[in-house]
Amino acid sequence: MISEEIMKNDTLEAIIQEYLKPYVRKIDSEAYYAKKYLLELGKAGFYHSEQLSINEVLLREIAVVEKTAKYCMTTAFNLWCQLASMTYLRYSNNSYLKEEILPKLEKGELLGGTGLSNPMKFYGGMEELHLKATRTEGGYLVSGALPSVSNLDDNHWFGIVAEVEGAQRLMAYVCCDAEGLRLKEKIGYLGLNGSATYACQFKNVFIPEKWIISEDADTFIEQVRPAFVFYQIPLGLGVTAAAIRSIHRARAKQGGCNRYLPIQATELEQELEALQEQTYKLAGETNNFPSIWKELLQTRLDVVNLTSKAVHANMVHSGSAAYISKSDPARRLRESYFLINLTPTVRHLEKLLSR
Ligand SMILES: Cc1cc2nc3c(=O)[nH]c(=O)nc-3n(C[C@H](O)[C@H](O)[C@H](O)COP(=O)(O)OP(=O)(O)OC[C@H]3O[C@@H](n4cnc5c(N)ncnc54)[C@H](O)[C@@H]3O)c2cc1C
Repeated sequence: MISEEIMKNDTLEAIIQEYLKPYVRKIDSEAYYAKKYLLELGKAGFYHSEQLSINEVLLREIAVVEKTAKYCMTTAFNLWCQLASMTYLRYSNNSYLKEEILPKLEKGELLGGTGLSNPMKFYGGMEELHLKATRTEGGYLVSGALPSVSNLDDNHWFGIVAEVEGAQRLMAYVCCDAEGLRLKEKIGYLGLNGSATYACQFKNVFIPEKWIISEDADTFIEQVRPAFVFYQIPLGLGVTAAAIRSIHRARAKQGGCNRYLPIQATELEQELEALQEQTYKLAGETNNFPSIWKELLQTRLDVVNLTSKAVHANMVHSGSAAYISKSDPARRLRESYFLINLTPTVRHLEKLLSR
């Protein structure tokens, strides 16, 4: 387990109470982007990686996502975007990105996202790459469109993969302010409207060499995709814990008749505990993450299924109070559907695990 010195639970709790908890309703119903919360986490040292092992960073970050998701899965997802984004730079050999940009991300001075759903589906044999690059003096010109990238705003950055003249693929880090890049806000989702999600249209966007994460995206992706998936697992762990807590609160309703329902808190607690144990064990025990890829995918799938089960049970236990659209159980139910449809989606996971 991670030391208290690294985890700083009291500080995290204080940041949640001040910058997240009061805004959860606004995030859900008014598409409010909790940017300040994400920046405050960085300022308090929750993103720094210097002098920490890969496992220590991973364990701390999983725990911070889990804790955030107990209050708001939308913001926990934004946090996932930031963490995935930083992972790309931590693994890159590009000195500009590592020395100029990464420290700003880790100190909470900059925020980032990841446009890697399409590349993940490309590498899973499910889609063509949407972005194409051509060589030009000092870099590349990129064109194409990504339907949804979250955690974006002015002066935010995000990771992309583009095909270079049909031959190889490169991975780059792009600033939202780049010329030729048009962002169109996407709201009207069932949940997640506070995730600062945009459709990104690239029209001959110049990517200078100093923005290139790797010229060999095929190999690079293999290194970073375990962290990409690891950080998604605690989204479900946190939401499940919150649903269980809500089920306990509804115990005395109508003379205690919830005890006759088929799914009870104790069963969910046991399943949650087993998946928490599995997640933290996987994150803490190896630094050869590609070797545990299948186990990781299975855990991610198991977590989605448990989360779905828990949020549905929460709706049943809480009765008509949960049927109010702004209620916490209804918010969790809506948000949980995103976990099913977040790449790797459930069907993508089933495909990868069937091989
Ligand atoms: C709220 C939200 C936030 C997201 N944030 C990110 C993110 O930060 N980064 C990221 O890479 N992905 C993001 N996604 C995409 C997500 O991870 C999944 O890839 C997406 O939900 C699609 O799932 P699917 O595989 O079932 O594809 P489907 O829904 O079946 O779509 C198949 C493909 O059709 C195309 N497509 C779908 N919708 C559109 C559209 N409106 N316009 C044009 N083409 C479209 C895309 O190529 C898509 O991959 C987000 C999605 C949502 C709903």
